[in-house]
Amino acid sequence: MILALVGNQNCGKTTLFNSLTGSNRHVGNFPGITVDHMVGSVRSTKDCEVVDLPGIYSLRPYTQEEIIARDFILNEKPAGIINIVDATNIERNLYLTLQLIELRVPMVLALNMMDEVHANGGTIDIICLSAALGIPIVPISALKGDGVSELIDRAVEVAKNRVLPSVHDFCDNSSPVHRCIHAVMHLIQDHADRLELPSRFCTIKLIEGDSDMVDRLELLTNEREMLEHIIVEMEIETGLDRNAALADMRYTFIEQAVARCVVKPQESREHLRSLKYDRILTGKYTAIPVFIVVMCVIFWLTFNVIGSFLSDLMSKVIEALSAAVDGALTNFGINPVVHSLIIDGIFSGVGAVLSFLPVIVVLFFFLSILEDTGYMARIAFVMDRPLRKIGLSGRAFVPMLLGFGCTVPAIMATRTVSSDRDRKLAILITPFMSCSAKVPIYSVFIAAFFPGKGALVMIALYGTGIIIGLLTAYAFKSTIFKGNPVPFVMELPNYRIPSPKSVALLLWDKAKDFLQRAFTIIFVATVIVWFLQTFDIRLNVVADSADSMLATLGQCIAPLLSPLGFGDWRIATALISGFTAKEAVISTLSVLLHTSIDNLSTSLTSFFTPLTAVSFLVFTLLYTPCIAAIATVKREMGSKLVTFGVVVMQTGIAWLAAFAVYQIGGLFI
Ligand code: GDP
Ligand code: MG
Repeated sequence: MILALVGNQNCGKTTLFNSLTGSNRHVGNFPGITVDHMVGSVRSTKDCEVVDLPGIYSLRPYTQEEIIARDFILNEKPAGIINIVDATNIERNLYLTLQLIELRVPMVLALNMMDEVHANGGTIDIICLSAALGIPIVPISALKGDGVSELIDRAVEVAKNRVLPSVHDFCDNSSPVHRCIHAVMHLIQDHADRLELPSRFCTIKLIEGDSDMVDRLELLTNEREMLEHIIVEMEIETGLDRNAALADMRYTFIEQAVARCVVKPQESREHLRSLKYDRILTGKYTAIPVFIVVMCVIFWLTFNVIGSFLSDLMSKVIEALSAAVDGALTNFGINPVVHSLIIDGIFSGVGAVLSFLPVIVVLFFFLSILEDTGYMARIAFVMDRPLRKIGLSGRAFVPMLLGFGCTVPAIMATRTVSSDRDRKLAILITPFMSCSAKVPIYSVFIAAFFPGKGALVMIALYGTGIIIGLLTAYAFKSTIFKGNPVPFVMELPNYRIPSPKSVALLLWDKAKDFLQRAFTIIFVATVIVWFLQTFDIRLNVVADSADSMLATLGQCIAPLLSPLGFGDWRIATALISGFTAKEAVISTLSVLLHTSIDNLSTSLTSFFTPLTAVSFLVFTLLYTPCIAAIATVKREMGSKLVTFGVVVMQTGIAWLAAFAVYQIGGLFI
């Protein structure tokens, strides 16, 4: 039995999903975190699965999320719907409820956030509201777990017995809208029955002007004319256009029901507090400076203070471990090739990457705090105006910010961007946001060439990524993607203190992910690099790695990189292995330079000058992200050709930027 969780954005669907299934999906205080649906089995009930759908405000497909949610309900035909309603915002949430009721699917309403309603002195008469809507209602608090088991029992019961909503008319019997609905319903009844679609739902869709529905129902020409005639008549009688008339009907119904059944809480403390903070955090003059300060502090803490301290500690541990293993292997008298594989290959490669685990976890910690407190939503809102000028919408800002973590989820998050044009544009520029896998590369080079200036260099690099991304967007806006972004409407959630459990789970998830990559992709890349540089084409162990297979390969590419200031074959190979995962650049360099992470920085000074180091950093910042990110771009863009174009464009931009740095910098030095 499958139950679908449906509700507005940020109403607590994922929290409820986690509490029902015991899973650890990411909960964020940001509208639009869940962009794909997710299935889990309910712990307490046998053979029952729930599906966490993306948050939507209506069933009219304006965004990807609405399409995903709507198609799921219509095509997969879940046994029942659990409609989650944020009780602190009941009117707006019920708008979707009314549309769901029209679907004629067994349904239970979960009235969530009742803890906040009660804390602020509000009450809701459940029996009264349930009678008005014709569906069972269970008050819950997903966060505290109150009412969750009653909810699931009730939902299972309703779905098993196929209890349909008992009210289906939301309009005043004498109104023109009512007449219009009935006339249309009469007209299309046979078509809807043939397709086994609820006729009222089809009717509403037709009145809303959903052309998809007209085609689905295969209406005849005279029926289409009749339909249009009925609707126009209604528009004349009500003086509203068709959509406004339906919206008006729903809101009038909701208003009356709420007036009867709900005692409004006072302005909630959370909301008042949020308004106070927002005066500064989204204030006209203060918002952007505050945001810049916040980001700088985060970078400083991550790269100069906490992260670097922990990373140093970690690399000491790895170093000690490596030395111990080295000693043991030497004593044991193991074959020198195997010894080299373990120490020069695996330990220096994987070890180099592992030591950056703490920096990355700290970075994710801050990003998740930004998101969970509700600040990220504000930033999107504040950034909407400046971004609009270059053809992006504020919504695109969040994927960009998530891109600092990892490009893959960031590109997935572009699904929250409303129009196809805005979304494609956002996908194109997200890879320019420097992902966390590049942090090891930056850190090593900073230690070698700019010691003590970590945060500064990092900010400059991230800033360059952002600026290049924005310039690219602007270039596209004036060429391929002409037009303006759709208006940005988003409700700002109240500020909330992030739950330690949710943050801890997220960090654990990211750390696990990183470790997994280190021991899979990076491990394999390291071993391959070690292999290729230890043997020549005839599979003899080489004395000097310049005679190895890898050197032969690298030398083919190196000339392309010479104009950028780093034409050594080892660097060329490192950059190529970066296609598998960006951390592999560092593991490859460690293997090729025969050093451990502690000495890597020192060895680099014989290959780079500070100027070529900058040029190299700019190149790594901008060139194409890893295979996983490319695959995601391909999936979201749905075209191999476009994806190939994106890869070429990015590598081209990276080359040009690094070239400019090296050539122009050379004039001054
Ligand atoms: P979704 O977007 O619908 O999946 O919503 P989430 O599950 O991500 O939750 C959004 C926010 O609401 C998070 O900050 C949750 O901690 C918070 N939240 C969820 N349920 C409750 C509840 O019952 N009471 C309170 N006070 N907060 C809740
Ligand atoms: Mg969610």
